[in-house]
Amino acid sequence: MAFFQEKLETMSQEQLQEVQLEKMKKQVSHIYNNQQFSKKRFDQEGVNPGDIRKWEDIKKVPFTYKKDLRDNYPLGLLSGNWDDVVRVHMTSGTTGVPTPMVYTQNDLDVWADCMARNFIAGGIKKSDIVQQAHGLGLFTGGLGFHYGLERCGVKMIPTGAGGTDRQLRLMQEWGTTVFTGTPSYAAYIGEIAIERGIDPVKDLKLRLGFHGGEPCSDELRQRIDERLGYKAHGGGMRVCYGLTEMGGPSAMDCEYITGIHIWGDHYLVEVLDPETLEDVQPGKPGELVISNLSFEAMPILRYRTGDRVIVNFDTCECGRTHPRISRFLGRVDDMLLVSGTNVFPSQVEYVLLQHAELSENWQLVIGDKKGLHTLKVEVEPAAGAQIDNAYIKQLEKELHSYLEITCNVDIKPVGTLPRFEGKAVRVRDERK
Ligand SMILES: [Zn+2]
Repeated sequence: MAFFQEKLETMSQEQLQEVQLEKMKKQVSHIYNNQQFSKKRFDQEGVNPGDIRKWEDIKKVPFTYKKDLRDNYPLGLLSGNWDDVVRVHMTSGTTGVPTPMVYTQNDLDVWADCMARNFIAGGIKKSDIVQQAHGLGLFTGGLGFHYGLERCGVKMIPTGAGGTDRQLRLMQEWGTTVFTGTPSYAAYIGEIAIERGIDPVKDLKLRLGFHGGEPCSDELRQRIDERLGYKAHGGGMRVCYGLTEMGGPSAMDCEYITGIHIWGDHYLVEVLDPETLEDVQPGKPGELVISNLSFEAMPILRYRTGDRVIVNFDTCECGRTHPRISRFLGRVDDMLLVSGTNVFPSQVEYVLLQHAELSENWQLVIGDKKGLHTLKVEVEPAAGAQIDNAYIKQLEKELHSYLEITCNVDIKPVGTLPRFEGKAVRVRDERK
């Protein structure tokens, strides 16, 4: 088993807790002394940096919410010196104010180290030829992957997203062994390869895929593994997790696929019951709350991610001692409220991809009919699949029993639904 920073990745749980407490103390006083917004919140809650002395005291640190980052856009949460800032990222913010993140050189180094640890834990080697197809730009994904990959000493081809035919040509010309990009782009590029008469198992050499930026079901992972030939070439797909509020993509599966490793010396992980705000029992689902222990410019403490997860704090088979997200159960932001029922798009994907007859090209349409909300899935069949009315009725039944709401199925001709080079848009809200 290879490591990027073996000592740090395998330190004992006790050591890890010590590091976390020390860093948390420093981070709290850094923020309190340099940032008006958080100082005010600490003062309101009657918490002084000196109150954080032992592990339990971490619970006194006030939470940070997505709203705080947006309300204080662009620089209200800056804790470091503006003079030391060397990079700015933000979410696309298509539906409102973006979520910003700024970095010192040290922050960028920490981030790149985390990503390099991930790639090596996922099985990447210096000899690998990597096509990096996460979008390069304001979005944290592309450059986060880019600098982490550079640190591993691989041969990187920074294509960015899109240009699918050129991506396929480069894969053949250069013998690319690793591909990165969103899961939906990986599935799409596999589809186009087959359409162009390229058999990824015979004609390409892809063995590893590092895919993030959107949720990915186990079913989709399996399809990508098979379609792009990762499994056939002795490797597999690794799922990446990250948030702009944490600095970007920074956590990933290792080779054992036992959960997404989050680096505890840089990020303190808590799993809380969103009602009582108490720690949940080990192995139970709760809301992921993350503190950035190492960043200088805009460190966010006790960030309420809204993500429902199960976290495993035991040591992994790979020897790494840091916590792992062993199940990702949904993102509160993605939850839809349809006629009083909560619907997660990931539930729809779960049902659809159980069917070999269906492709992974689908969209959920919420409509309006005489004041009532309606739900419809548009989906394309898999290549060559025959679908009749009885099949559609059966699928509607399955969706109903899983979602607990009526959901019609509309089978669309192959190639008519949108494809995505970045994050997939799975929901079309046509309510007035
Ligand atoms: Zn592991």
